[in-house]
Order: sequence, then C-alpha cells, then structure tokens
Amino acid sequence: MTLADPTLSAPSPTRMFEKLSPVTGARLGEYPIADRDAVQAAVARARTAFPGWRDTPLEVRLEALNRGRQVLAEHAERYARRIAEDTGKPVIEALMFELAVVPMFLDHYLKRAPKLLRRRKVPTPLALTGKTGYVEHFPRGVVGVISPWNFPFQLSVLPVISALIGGNTVVLKPSEVTPISGEVVADFFNRLGLPPGVVEVVQGDGSTGAALCAANVDMLFFTGSVATGRKVAAAAAARPIPCELELGGKDAFIVCADANLERAAEACVFGSMVNCGQACVSVERVFVVDQVHDRFVELVKQKLNKLKVGGPDEQADMGPMTFARQLETVERHVEAARQAGAKVLTGGTRLAREGLFFPPTLLTDIHPDMAIYRDETFGPVLPVIRVRDEEEAVRLANDSEFGLAGSVWTQDLDKGLRIASRLESGQVMVNDVFTSVGHPGLPFGGIRSSGIGRYHGDEGLLSFMNARAILVDRGKADYDPIWYPYKDKLAAAFDVFRGVATKSIGKVIKGFLGLRKASIEGHKS
Ligand code: NAD
Repeated sequence: MTLADPTLSAPSPTRMFEKLSPVTGARLGEYPIADRDAVQAAVARARTAFPGWRDTPLEVRLEALNRGRQVLAEHAERYARRIAEDTGKPVIEALMFELAVVPMFLDHYLKRAPKLLRRRKVPTPLALTGKTGYVEHFPRGVVGVISPWNFPFQLSVLPVISALIGGNTVVLKPSEVTPISGEVVADFFNRLGLPPGVVEVVQGDGSTGAALCAANVDMLFFTGSVATGRKVAAAAAARPIPCELELGGKDAFIVCADANLERAAEACVFGSMVNCGQACVSVERVFVVDQVHDRFVELVKQKLNKLKVGGPDEQADMGPMTFARQLETVERHVEAARQAGAKVLTGGTRLAREGLFFPPTLLTDIHPDMAIYRDETFGPVLPVIRVRDEEEAVRLANDSEFGLAGSVWTQDLDKGLRIASRLESGQVMVNDVFTSVGHPGLPFGGIRSSGIGRYHGDEGLLSFMNARAILVDRGKADYDPIWYPYKDKLAAAFDVFRGVATKSIGKVIKGFLGLRKASIEGHKS
C-alpha cells in the first residue's frame, strides 16, 4: 500500500488577482485566474457549439446579435458606470467610445454581411472557357480573442461580434487590468441568449492568455502590446493557425501652414488626451511646420490648461491612468525627455492626490533620439516637433517602427489626400482625428510593429473567414483536352499558350480544336 501524495490528490487552489481602483487605489475585488484546464474546457465547449452555430443561417445569427442593441439600450448606464469605475475614464467616454460603437457596427454588418458573405461568381479566363469559378467564405472555427485594458468593452465586443457573424464560435480572454469590464462583456453576451458555448469568457492574466494560444483554437485575434503580440504570433506559428495582431502606435499629426489652426489645435488636444492618452490611435508625435509652430503650440497649451482632470464622479474631461505600470512609463518618458533638453510647457509630473492621475502634458524641443519620440508613451503627453516643411514632416512621420494611424491638417484637400497617400500607416485622416476607427465601413489595423491584419469593414469580416474556391464544369464531355494522353498535343498547346499570351482569340480557338482532336484520337486508341 502506498500513501497518496497530498500535493497530487488535493485540488490545486485557484489563483486569484486583485483589482485596485485607478481613482482611489482602493481594492475593488478579487478575480479567479482561469488555468490551463479551465481554458481548455472553455475551448472544448466552443468547439462543441461550433457546427450548430456555423450551420445557423446568417440572417438568424445576425438577428441574434442584433438583440445587443436592446441589451445596450437597457443596460447602457450601468455598463458605462462599471467600465468607468474599472478604467477611471469619464462615464461619457465609456458611453461614446465603448458602447455606442456597437450598434453602429451592428447596423453596418446587418446590411453588409449578407452581400459580402454570399457566394460570388468570378470572371472566367479565355483558357478556361466552359468552366465557372465561384468564391465563398466559411468560418475558421473556434477563435481565441485576447483583449487589452484601454477600451476593454469595445475591443472585446467588436472582434467577437465580427467572428460570430461569420459563424465562428469564440473564447474571449479580457485583460486582467480591467476585470470589471470583463464581467460587463460576459453579461452583455449572456443577455443575447446565444446557444451555450458560442461565446465563452475566461478571465485571468497572461498565463490564461498563453493557455488560450496553446489550446485547440483555429485562429487567434490579439489586441495589445508589441511584446505580447510577438508571443501570440509565435504560438500561432507553432500550430500553425492564422493570427491577427492589433498592436501599438506612435501616430503622427502633421500641421501644414494652411491648416485651420483652431480646429487642428482642438483636435490635437482631444486626440492626445482622450482616454487619458491611452489609445492605440492617440496622437503621439505632432509635426508642425515652422511658419505656424509657435502659434499652434500656444493655442494647444491654452486648451490643455482648460481640461479638468478628475474621477468619473467629478464631471472631469480626463480621468486617471488606468494602470500603474503605464503611469510609470509616462513618467519615465517625460523625465528622460526633460533631462535631454525638452521643454515642458505644461504638466509634467503626477498630480499630488490619490489615484493614478497625470496632468495633460505638452513638450517641445523634442529630438529623434528621445524615447518619447520613438516609443509608444500611451499617456496624456503631447510632444511637438518643429519641421521645416511638409516634406520633412512626411519623412519623419514615416521614420517609425509603427504605422497605425496618422492625420494631416490642411485646407487644401487635394494636398491632404496626396500627403495621406504617402503616409505609411493603416489609416490616415485629413482634418480629423480618431474618427476613422469609429467608421464601421473602414478597415482598421496597422503595418510594421503596429500589427498584422485588419478588422472592421469588409476586410474585418473576411479576416475571420476562410475563402473557398469552387470551380464548376457542366460535366458533359467524357474528357478534358488538357488531360492524358499528351500524344500529338504539344503544337496545339503552344497555339493556346501564344493565343493567351498575345490575347489572340483565333490562336486560342485553333489550339483548343487541335487539343480536342488529339484527345478524341487518343481516346479511341
Ligand atoms: P498587453 O500585451 O500587456 O496585454 C494584452 C492582453 O494580452 C491581456 O489580456 C493580457 O492578459 C494578455 N497576455 C499577456 N501575456 C500573454 C501571453 N504570453 N500570451 C497571451 N496573452 C497574453 O497589452 P495591454 O497593456 O493590455 O494593452 C496596451 C497595448 O495595446 C498598447 O500597446 C496599445 O497600443 C495596444 N492596443 C492596440 C490596439 C489596436 O487596435 N491596434 C487597440 C488598443 C490597444
């Protein structure tokens, strides 16, 4: 008889993580970390649900998801307040930039998805006359979605909805920094009344995310930092499965001499400070042509100084930062820039109150070797760089590891579009900021270290789908001219080839008749 090893037989205690308020530092709760077994069980449930959901007609899937509008209409206030408590952002930002985008996207896809996902006939080339080609799309299967903390509702719900429209089932891993929003997301999907297993939510930290990447999923959709994105991509490559990465940015904001300076300054303040600067599409590098630099900086400074900073209950324009580690990055970037000669025109040090508050901060005299110029800061900081002209602005804007979004400010719209087309990034706005991400018809995503793939728009729906090519022959003939035997076919094959290469229909027909004749004779023998 052997004694049981108590460390093997006792159930392992669930590991927990703590949630602290970004506004007061108080403990808001404790949440379990889903371990590998829990993640695998969630993936297994999603896999069991997959065939039923895939085979549910698209209109029925859309109708089920469309119930989300009613759920949001009924619960918007509670959801917005919970998200604000979790992140520290103003309740109005939770409403506008987390919840309101969802019905807009549903509206768009309700109209667009049936057209986009319909089987489509493609033109037949001359050499394949008699055949018909079609393209259709089918879901990838179980999609693992891993989301960040900065827009914890929107950046979870939109990819999940996109995947579900296509007939995929989903296991979602929200960020451990914002578990309250993770609960809100789970509540939202529960209220849609979807069949069991169609959406599974597993809360936890990086270990939970890693377990999801290693589980039996068919695609990974990741939003977060470049460092974690590399790990997710490596896990996807090891399988291999498709993986989409929505990563960081260092967005350029180019102010031309003929810009409407008042609008540009308003936008610059909003685009750099909304969500306390914690947005992948935050304005992070402002290039202003010398001619208007000083005037622009003065306008921005005045506007920054009018912003009210405070918690969600203080009617503030800007909340605290959500995450202590992010606040430390901001402090490090600002301090290093100051030491290297940058001028801090306003803000610059953490506020003397409890919570993770950092004021709107404006910096000039920025140099390319500063971290604040090169690396993502992800905080309420605005570095302004003086440039000689627009050419220099475009060159510097493109000289970045990132390529997520950017904007150009000019009253000459043709010039704006010309510059937009030269910016190496996934999206560019002319005289606008932030808004392209909220347009459901526009694809969203980055290049270089900003990511791989697109969501939103047509591309965003198709990225959760496999393409299936279908070729149909009427099936009347007993053989095809290009099949065996090859005997006596070479000259005719050259005729077809030359006809196709030189677009000579006569030669193609002559070649095909020769192939057909050789085929008939070959068949008789
Ligand atoms: P993060 O990479 O730290 O975490 C993102 C998610 O990955 C979290 O859920 C986390 O638990 C999980 N994770 C951690 N380790 C993991 C691992 N080894 N395997 C799998 N998952 C793991 O990022 P964050 O700090 O939450 O988010 C901020 C970053 O996200 C910024 O860089 C920002 O620019 C970027 N972001 C990009 C977009 C976009 O659409 N491009 C949108 C929002 C945020």
